[in-house]
Amino acid sequence: MTITLVLAVRDGAPAPAPLRGVEVVAPDALAHRLDQAAGSLCLLLPAGVRPRPDLLDLHAAAHRARPGCAVASPVTPAVAPPSAHAHALRGLHRAPLSADAALLQRMLAQVPGATRPDDVHGLVWLRSAGVLVALEHPAADLALRPTEVLRAAERWGRSCADAARRHRSLRGELLAGFGDSSPRELAVRRFLLRAAVPPPLLWAASRPVRRSSPQLAPLMRHLAFWRGVRRGVRPRTWSAIAGGVPVLMYHAFATRDEAPSRFVVAPSQLRRHLRVLRLLGLRPTTLDAVAAALQAGDLPPARRFVVTIDDGYADNLNVAAPVLARAGVRPTVFLVTERMGGVNDWDRAGVLAGRRLLSWGEVERLQAGGAALGAHTLTHPVLPDLEESQVRQQVLLSVACVAAHARPAGVPFAYPHGRYDQVALRAVAEAGCCCALSTDVGRVGPGAPLLRLPRLEMKGTDGLLRTILKLTGVAHR
Ligand SMILES: [Zn+2]
Repeated sequence: MTITLVLAVRDGAPAPAPLRGVEVVAPDALAHRLDQAAGSLCLLLPAGVRPRPDLLDLHAAAHRARPGCAVASPVTPAVAPPSAHAHALRGLHRAPLSADAALLQRMLAQVPGATRPDDVHGLVWLRSAGVLVALEHPAADLALRPTEVLRAAERWGRSCADAARRHRSLRGELLAGFGDSSPRELAVRRFLLRAAVPPPLLWAASRPVRRSSPQLAPLMRHLAFWRGVRRGVRPRTWSAIAGGVPVLMYHAFATRDEAPSRFVVAPSQLRRHLRVLRLLGLRPTTLDAVAAALQAGDLPPARRFVVTIDDGYADNLNVAAPVLARAGVRPTVFLVTERMGGVNDWDRAGVLAGRRLLSWGEVERLQAGGAALGAHTLTHPVLPDLEESQVRQQVLLSVACVAAHARPAGVPFAYPHGRYDQVALRAVAEAGCCCALSTDVGRVGPGAPLLRLPRLEMKGTDGLLRTILKLTGVAHR
């Protein structure tokens, strides 16, 4: 069999990817061609099939819409993975595809260990040849063939778990997305996974409420997929997938006589937070460790938490550091580098306005106690309100400053006020940060976006119940 390869060659991101060439290759040359394609392979069609011009246009449009993504076309497994999984795959399902499953099946027949069109190993193999693979969501109608659809989704989950064991650097990617659903769906899914009822049975039992609950079908598919994953991984891996790492965000700590408020946490409250974490079986790790795992494409560490403190107030050293040190916690403190030794002059009102900030001398003592440093801009502006040149200055110079004081490379960054946009994201990437923290709410799970990691804000106004709900993942705010 001869295969026609249509290559879309990218002329450097983020330019659109025009289709530039058409080649015909024999199957034995395919692997070599894929190697050469290095991320730009696009469309596979059987020999003798002339690509329909409208499909090529659609295909090119998909590239323009998502620069940097290539689509291997014929991937139409019998049943696709659920959308919550998606992945590199994420967001690409709707890319126009133009060949069929039979072709992929023939192609994958050449891949060692890949036997089915929905076998993830074949896709991993394509990836290792430099191809970003997109999966089409077939119109798998759950109502028409529920058992088949749900079994296939579960098999796909199992296959992903299996591939994740073999390809460590793809673990984060293959097993991403557990926490991407609404808190309600998550809670229901967790419960049903624990209850271990087979999804086809659940689907059958759901008949009376199906018509009024359109979200039921995706929920079932996700459930089936994650059931497959869960059965294919070790318990520890599963807790990394389903639990994620809570990255706690603090600001200031109450000094003597000061009342707690949203941004000011009393030392007794901090001690209570740490106690609850311990009782939940979560142990401290560092932000660096989490970032390093994600960077390597691996899962975040299981059953761990991270403490981050924004702005760098003097009370971080006097009040929080001893409590954290006793609990073995090594926090990351984000500094506003041009205000060091001064006060918070970016807030007009509120408890943080005019509050004293750490000096560099005090920062050294914090570091000696095990704290790591991060950058929080020069003067704490709202980055999306600034001109691009100012954003770059705020990010690059503050990162360089922290690097000079603390660490040669990979300084973490936190967006002031949690606000970022494309310009800010680019600046942080340019600064070579190991990760950047937002105030988007959530836990850091597999495949979490390194440059806008979510956090959980720990407030001085939270009572014990709220704290427990937050740290167990039942509530986020
Ligand atoms: Zn801040």
